[in-house]
Amino acid sequence: MTRPEPALSVVVPMYNEESVLPALAGRLRAVLDDLGEAYEVVAVDDGSDDGTATGLTVLRAGWPQLRVLRLRRNSGHQAALVAGVLRARGRHVVSIDADLQDPPETIVEMLRVARADDLDVVYGVRVDRSTDGPFKRWTAAGYYRLMRRLVGKQVPAQAGDFRLLSRAVVEALRELPEPAPVLRLVVPWLGFPSGEVTYQRHRRAAGRTKYPLSRMAGLAAQSVTSFSAAPLRFATWLGLVGVAVCGLLVVFTVVAWALGATVDGWPSLYVAILFLGAVQLLCLGLLGEYVGRIYTVVQGRPAYVVAADTAADEQGDRAAG
Ligand code: UDP
Ligand code: MG
Repeated sequence: MTRPEPALSVVVPMYNEESVLPALAGRLRAVLDDLGEAYEVVAVDDGSDDGTATGLTVLRAGWPQLRVLRLRRNSGHQAALVAGVLRARGRHVVSIDADLQDPPETIVEMLRVARADDLDVVYGVRVDRSTDGPFKRWTAAGYYRLMRRLVGKQVPAQAGDFRLLSRAVVEALRELPEPAPVLRLVVPWLGFPSGEVTYQRHRRAAGRTKYPLSRMAGLAAQSVTSFSAAPLRFATWLGLVGVAVCGLLVVFTVVAWALGATVDGWPSLYVAILFLGAVQLLCLGLLGEYVGRIYTVVQGRPAYVVAADTAADEQGDRAAG
């Protein structure tokens, strides 16, 4: 017994966002109720330990379209996003941050563009990031430049995780064996017809960022290793340079030995040992990145565990009643 699918699903991953919940619900609901079409909001509570879960329960009492997907533990923004998107039932699925940095009003524009131009993907592109600090902007610019080189030109610059997907894209994502694909790379990689909608990135409505430097670095490492073996090639290249330098040092040492100045060879010996050690360590590190990635994929361990889904509860209620 499946209910008719809503025209639109809005997926909102949230981790300890109790302070933005009222503002978020107000803005989002105003936009979606105005749409005049059936919709669902999938709030993915990423193992919050503040009042987010309670807040969502309260909201749900007066907002039947709100569906709460609670993850067992904090699994990270990407995993929460994937959990919500893969379980969304709408014919179109929009993912948006909880902190109102992405304006909910833009959802309407995305839907309009997708329908008018018959597109499967509509990216939200940030035209102005002045509300993000210079460090965030600088690292983000580097990240997108690198990703465009690794994945291809179809990766839009300055497009985060505010985007619209059609049902076809969601189904394609479900077929991927990866437990936690990096959506902002895998979606362009799938190659569906896509378009863009521009918007101003606003300041966080309340609360503080959950993306410290360590998480940004983690996302970057995962992005690179899930899409390219180029760093391995770089390691090989570096190894070749190391070998060449060592060859020169060997010649140098032999000449010094022939001239009877062997003691003078000690510094070069040191340099050779240190250099080789450094190159080997670097290569080992890079290999480790890939081995780690292979390890997690081969394990097939899910990136998250769903604790509860209010949609399933409703079906249970109906079956019982
Ligand atoms: N988020 C999440 N799980 C996490 C960290 C963040 O679901 O472990 C959510 C967060 O609640 C927000 C979105 O991911 O809705 C983006 O996070 P944030 O605004 O902190 O990142 P920033 O905008 O600073 O990059
Ligand atoms: Mg944010």
